[in-house]
Amino acid sequence: MKKYLLPVFMLGIFETIAITLWLTMDNLFYLINFSYIGCSIALGIFLFTKEYKHARRVTQLLVGLYMLVYLGLICNENMQIEGFWYYLFTGVFEAATIHYAVAKIFGPLIFGRGWCGYACWTAMILDFLPYKTPSQPRKKIGWIRYITFVASFLFVATLFLAQVGNIERIMFWAFIIGNLVYYAVGIGLALFLQDNRAFCKYICPITVFLKPMSYFSLLRVRCDTSKCISCGKCRQVCPMDVDVTDNSRKRENGTECILCFECARNCPKDAL
Ligand code: SF4
Ligand code: SF4
Ligand code: SF4
Repeated sequence: MKKYLLPVFMLGIFETIAITLWLTMDNLFYLINFSYIGCSIALGIFLFTKEYKHARRVTQLLVGLYMLVYLGLICNENMQIEGFWYYLFTGVFEAATIHYAVAKIFGPLIFGRGWCGYACWTAMILDFLPYKTPSQPRKKIGWIRYITFVASFLFVATLFLAQVGNIERIMFWAFIIGNLVYYAVGIGLALFLQDNRAFCKYICPITVFLKPMSYFSLLRVRCDTSKCISCGKCRQVCPMDVDVTDNSRKRENGTECILCFECARNCPKDAL
């Protein structure tokens, strides 16, 4: 029964968020939205416990397509970082703001970078590429994320300062064009560096929120050092170069862990 605790725990967290937002905002959308996401995540983790190989992909597609196609394209919600800045400037506590608060700012205190492993629609596509594990050591170009972060902020701030008309429509097109740029850069970089997650490691502006918050994550992979034989398999299969055998918060690339559990799945001693 113990192995079913995690999907139930995750479902419980999302149902708590769903019901709280539904009642406080008096909007049924939040109940349906967060219940759907919670069920999708719980399903993926449940399938993982059943050793279904594509368990995480199921959740990525269920959540990623829902956000990209339904919320983004059909409901015109800019769920990218520009949308977050936009709603902050307008002072409206709307879907994109709540999405950022739950998935990318406060949620990571509980589930780390689970968003990156199970829900992000950019990674949903990148993970289909053939370079599941990096073939080269990590590059020291992570500073690029701060440039993209500041650029996204300046873009939206300029629209407001210049009092540009019809910003809402611009944000919709920014969502479409922004996503196309993310996919083009993400795929190009993955092919060039032979690493599916190169975009996540070096470019993605959202990691400016995700990394510091996930440092304190409640949910994290731990190593039973009494079982570990230091074979290095976990490090070989990790898409994010995490030294998961080190249990300290300061483990190498610890804030990069996307909770994909590839390390645990491949550990010959069940030490993770
Ligand atoms: S780092 Fe960015 S692009 Fe990568 S999975 Fe996380 S949010 Fe998505
Ligand atoms: S795969 Fe398992 S046994 Fe091997 S180093 Fe990692 S934790 Fe230790
Ligand atoms: S393989 Fe393990 S350490 Fe690496 S990202 Fe996945 S869960 Fe985290």
